[in-house]
Amino acid sequence: MSLLADEAQVVDLGLRWTPGFRALGPAFYTELRPRPLPEPYWVGTSAAVARTLGLDPQQLDTPEALEAFTGNVLLAGSQPLASVYSGHQFGVWAGQLGDGRALLLGETASGQEVQLKGSGPTPYSRMGDGRAVLRSSIREFLCSEAVHALGIPTTRALCVTGSDAPVYREEIETSAVVTRVAPSFIRFGHFEHFAANARHEELRQLADYVIERYYPACRESTRFGGNAYAAFLEAVSERTAALLAQWQAVGFCHGVMNTDNMSILGLTIDYGPFQFLDGFDPRHICNHSDTSGRYAYNQQPNVAYWNLFCLAQALLPLIGDQQVAVAALESYKTVFPAQFESRMRAKLGLASAEEADRALVDGLLRLLAAEKVDWTIFWRRLSQHVAGDSATLVRDLFIDRTAIDAWLKDYAERRARNNAPDAGAQIMLRSNPKFVLRNHLGQIAIDQARQKDFSGVARLQALLESPFEEHPGHEDMAGFPPDWASSIEISCSS
Ligand code: AMP
Ligand code: MG
Repeated sequence: MSLLADEAQVVDLGLRWTPGFRALGPAFYTELRPRPLPEPYWVGTSAAVARTLGLDPQQLDTPEALEAFTGNVLLAGSQPLASVYSGHQFGVWAGQLGDGRALLLGETASGQEVQLKGSGPTPYSRMGDGRAVLRSSIREFLCSEAVHALGIPTTRALCVTGSDAPVYREEIETSAVVTRVAPSFIRFGHFEHFAANARHEELRQLADYVIERYYPACRESTRFGGNAYAAFLEAVSERTAALLAQWQAVGFCHGVMNTDNMSILGLTIDYGPFQFLDGFDPRHICNHSDTSGRYAYNQQPNVAYWNLFCLAQALLPLIGDQQVAVAALESYKTVFPAQFESRMRAKLGLASAEEADRALVDGLLRLLAAEKVDWTIFWRRLSQHVAGDSATLVRDLFIDRTAIDAWLKDYAERRARNNAPDAGAQIMLRSNPKFVLRNHLGQIAIDQARQKDFSGVARLQALLESPFEEHPGHEDMAGFPPDWASSIEISCSS
């Protein structure tokens, strides 16, 4: 087998490509082919994502698709490339990074970029091997689809393929390739790259491309005296604020919020050491490599703002005025709390806002934190209580019953003033998922997959694709984490 996907070996699944990102020109990327992996096998596929690409899900059952989405043959018409970006990692300027193990196959006619992750080294691999291991690829695949089903903006995942080709991390593991799909994989770090290198023409070209494609209203905006770049920064800030409010409400910890892992479209991107909270601990750190807790759960909203500040600095040559750039970030400080409060009201089933709601939420969060009550189970049980069940299951989660009883009394009084009391339970059952991708659930599916049994991945995927449904018979996937869950250590190594 040759080292690069053979030019002669092309399969046509019917995907048609538009120039998209590659039209920006070679200053933004390096063209290269994926590097094949021996004897690939399917690990997981998403019929829903296939359909968004205009593929018949059955096409994913074919050996041609298996080879194509492993990078062993090219999809007809695709011209793969690795893009260059830079970024701040853990608060420190890291210089040039780039797609070190991802290749953009192209953008489909339906406006979706398709990317292989784990398809071999690129000029941006630095010391890395360009590969992704099975465990982290399964986590990315399942979590992309889970986060999407929760209604949170995210990159999607079409499929994961595996190969027994060894990959060397802390121990020897095996390889996998995730096919990711998003309208754009452009990150804050792409802008930082051209700003840091004083390449202002390319910086402008990139900003103009992103505005034209994804933020066209900024061209017409009269905000900031008609400064489209400032309006763009403000729009990115607002999307990011809305994203963070959703993460916080569902208890999602990203784990590596470096500026190169921040989507310019406000999508959840680059699933690594992420975690959905088990017990509610505001200072929870999910990334074993994050010794200082920079990316702890309760730090995420501030870190996102810090990252936006880096983006503002990168856009400064285009915005032209420091004060305008700072002003364009201001709305983050109002949009995030407003969005978070609105999400929390939905979790409480409150259809309208009252001044005292903040105190009600703060009081609850204090109680949950004091006893590290399970975040997902608490909210689901509270929803069921409001839907008509007794409060016992909620009270049972607390040792300090007096405190939770007092809170439940205030909550009942508040609900009595709610505009639409009957609607409350329905809002809650649509806002508080029964199923989230807890670390231990992913781990069980991964352990099975390592034995070539992919049924656990498929079962978990099916539940996570409709996380607000009851799914009778799958209670084991909605329970408390076992004791061993807290000993799972997930680091940046993937
Ligand atoms: P991450 O923290 O996973 O977002 O990765 C940060 C940077 O390291 C990105 O530029 C990645 O492309 C690169 N990278 C991570 N793992 C590898 C690998 N195994 N081989 C090559 N590059 C990698
Ligand atoms: Mg990354």
